[in-house]
Amino acid sequence: MTEPEARPTDLVLHPELLSGWGRTAPSESEVVSPRTTGEHVAALGMATDRGLVPRGLGRGYGDCAQNAGGLVLSGPANTGITDIDLGGARVTARAGTSLHELMERLVPLGLFVPVTPGTRMVTVGGAIAADIHGKNHHQAGSWCDHVESFRMLDGNGDVREISADGNPEAFWATAGGMGLTGVVLDATIRMKPVTSSRLLVDTDRANDLDDVMSLMIEGDDRYDYSVAWIDLVSSGSSMGRSVLDRGRFATAEEVSAAGHSAPLEFRTTQLPSPPDLVPSGLLNRASIRAFNELWFRKAPARRRDAIMSIEAFFHPLDMIAEWNRIYGKRGFLQWQCVVPDSESETIRRAVSKLSGAGISSFLAVLKRMGPSNQGHLSFPLEGWTLALDMPVSSGLESMLDELDEMVVTAGGRIYLAKDSRVRPELIPVMYPRLAQWQEIREKLDPDRRFRSDMSRRLGLI
Ligand SMILES: Cc1cc2nc3c(=O)[nH]c(=O)nc-3n(C[C@H](O)[C@H](O)[C@H](O)COP(=O)(O)OP(=O)(O)OC[C@H]3O[C@@H](n4cnc5c(N)ncnc54)[C@H](O)[C@@H]3O)c2cc1C
Repeated sequence: MTEPEARPTDLVLHPELLSGWGRTAPSESEVVSPRTTGEHVAALGMATDRGLVPRGLGRGYGDCAQNAGGLVLSGPANTGITDIDLGGARVTARAGTSLHELMERLVPLGLFVPVTPGTRMVTVGGAIAADIHGKNHHQAGSWCDHVESFRMLDGNGDVREISADGNPEAFWATAGGMGLTGVVLDATIRMKPVTSSRLLVDTDRANDLDDVMSLMIEGDDRYDYSVAWIDLVSSGSSMGRSVLDRGRFATAEEVSAAGHSAPLEFRTTQLPSPPDLVPSGLLNRASIRAFNELWFRKAPARRRDAIMSIEAFFHPLDMIAEWNRIYGKRGFLQWQCVVPDSESETIRRAVSKLSGAGISSFLAVLKRMGPSNQGHLSFPLEGWTLALDMPVSSGLESMLDELDEMVVTAGGRIYLAKDSRVRPELIPVMYPRLAQWQEIREKLDPDRRFRSDMSRRLGLI
């Protein structure tokens, strides 16, 4: 597909109040939506001394894709699949293309994304910048392990073709580099061949945290995908009771045998969004306790080989657009940590602290992660990852600070794509290759044009 000729004068700047998915700490930036390579180059030239940052669909929870008083390059205008190599299971897509668009087009052709987060509404650029992981990290690694190459406009104004073999420094500094090494323009991704759009899922209800962790240690290797939902409100002998879902893609034959025609059909549902006027206290301990009780009870104690759609298994929350409004105007935080395998006790202590402190979370998940890749700021490391959403409330900050300390002591880290509040002095400890990343970043962007609210808050550059 040829790009329309760049006409930088077409680029329109408009002020916008932007926040992350948690809707905390909004800030105003000038936003521009470049489509072509030429327009991206022109947009780079429009940045003032407050710099610029790329933005995808704003599914980062905190302030990684906003830039108070500066420029934000909005990604979704730069969308579209430009090449499909069905035999080689590879696809090239512009960076603003969402994983939803990839699935709509490619699942019917027998290709699935190699990694998917808990929402399809993220872009290819955002997936690279956060080096996202999914329920299959223990088997397949993270997003950038499946990126063959990408084109990036760096801070020098150079458009570079970057691959892990050809330019390992730039590749791995950008994988998880939170948009601070340049703007990714497009990428070629190795996809996962599938013969159906359904999953075969086993479900186990676990009575407490020890129970679910044992099930995962003993059995996760047999499954491509695994995730445990944890009831963080329950305490005492049922602390950490969970529903564990594990599965793999079904074959076309298995799907037909279960009575489904059109094995590669990709369907999604859209329910109405919640209004923007939900009061902030609606999700409180009582309502979340009731929800969690229902969720736990409705799960089968033990079920094998249930057929589930991609949406039901991977992205149930996407059925409700803008579900983040249910937390009200005050917004919510996500806290996600990972600790090494040997430090599973830290997960137990964290769950005990959270449930003991009366933290209300209806979305807490536990996953196992496989080995890290070479991304300097990439989040995953071999062990356990715990993620939870919490409404903003008094006392939350100091408790999360304590949890961060526990994670650091255990040799773990928190996920930048979900963060909005970690203390900056912990970052070099959590990410020991930060200084090396900064050196590479400096070469790609010597004038420090790429900046964000997050880079300033955490002193990343
Ligand atoms: C409901 C929900 C569930 C989630 N589940 C998971 C999960 O299971 N696993 C996981 O890993 N993450 C998960 N996330 C986080 C999400 O995958 C990441 O934050 C992802 O980066 C968001 O992509 P985005 O396109 O919305 O980017 P944004 O949120 O807009 O930006 C994220 C980062 O990417 C950078 N960026 C965006 N586009 C480009 C580009 N073209 N070039 C360079 N940098 C760019 C931005 O500067 C920013 O630093 C979840 C988020 C939500 C809301």
